[in-house]
Amino acid sequence: MPPPAEALTSPMVPAPFAVAAKRQETQDTWTLELSPHGAEEMAFAPGQFTMISAFGTGEVPISISGDPRASGTLVHTVRAVGLATAAICRACPGEVLEVRGPFGRPWPVEEIEGSDVLVIAGGIGLAPLRPAILALLARRERYGRLLLLYGGRSPDQLLYTEELERWRQEGLEVAVSVDSAGPEWLGHVGVVPRLIGRARFDAARAAALVCGPEVMMRFTVSALRQAGVDTASVYASMERNMQCGVAHCGHCQLGPTLVCRDGPVYRWSEIERWLGIREL
Ligand SMILES: Cc1cc2nc3c(=O)[nH]c(=O)nc-3n(C[C@H](O)[C@H](O)[C@H](O)COP(=O)(O)OP(=O)(O)OC[C@H]3O[C@@H](n4cnc5c(N)ncnc54)[C@H](O)[C@@H]3O)c2cc1C
Repeated sequence: MPPPAEALTSPMVPAPFAVAAKRQETQDTWTLELSPHGAEEMAFAPGQFTMISAFGTGEVPISISGDPRASGTLVHTVRAVGLATAAICRACPGEVLEVRGPFGRPWPVEEIEGSDVLVIAGGIGLAPLRPAILALLARRERYGRLLLLYGGRSPDQLLYTEELERWRQEGLEVAVSVDSAGPEWLGHVGVVPRLIGRARFDAARAAALVCGPEVMMRFTVSALRQAGVDTASVYASMERNMQCGVAHCGHCQLGPTLVCRDGPVYRWSEIERWLGIREL
């Protein structure tokens, strides 16, 4: 007997999505486009994530990296770092993955209307920010300057390289930096926070959306503070070990909060004190 309709949309019940298309971004990172396979389409807000698994391997949280206006397909950019993510990255077109969600608090793209917006990404951190960039560009006239400051370890580690040029043409000022590169790289070399000192924006009316390794986010926030940006206007997407996605298991605790329920996007001023405590 088929399950009742409400069970298919329950946050605890995985829904089947088939791999419709797959693109390799870097040596260990793939972007997968998923279509509902008897499941409902999934509407989402920029910054939200799903819990996703390939059959027989673990379920992991992965941010949705697609366009929030195109809810027909679900896009994920996944870096193969272990068993579950490697199995997802191996999935071929036609194969079915199990997906629950969407979960989490999104980027505040409407709340920051009127601001100069700095989108600051390190490595795979550009994936959770891509839907926010697409949402900002879709309503370009509602914002002041829009800047993307993006850093990767090396030029071959950069994501969405073809799209960066399109975003430039649509009104995003894009600065890219890599930690190290050969002579063929003509762009900036150095860590992402260094790009903040060179960027032109009005600190008094700036908001920043930040995602990357935690150490990168700390240095980024300190550079933003030095530039005069209020940390109440800085939002960061946090990653913690996560298992249920629905605030039952407590694995993703950050101070008194749970990243799956209260994050992954937080105002920096809300979480700064918890980040200062080791192993928390
Ligand atoms: C809200 C959220 C959104 C995420 N979005 C993305 C995304 O868009 N794309 C993507 O590739 N990954 C994303 N991740 C990270 C992804 O969930 C982990 O890489 C994955 O859980 C690793 O599982 P695994 O079984 O493949 O590897 P494991 O064998 O579990 O781990 C391999 C290595 O990755 C580390 N690791 C495991 N889980 C995490 C984690 N949650 N954060 C940081 N390091 C971890 C482990 O310590 C270990 O070193 C996100 C995580 C969260 C919490």
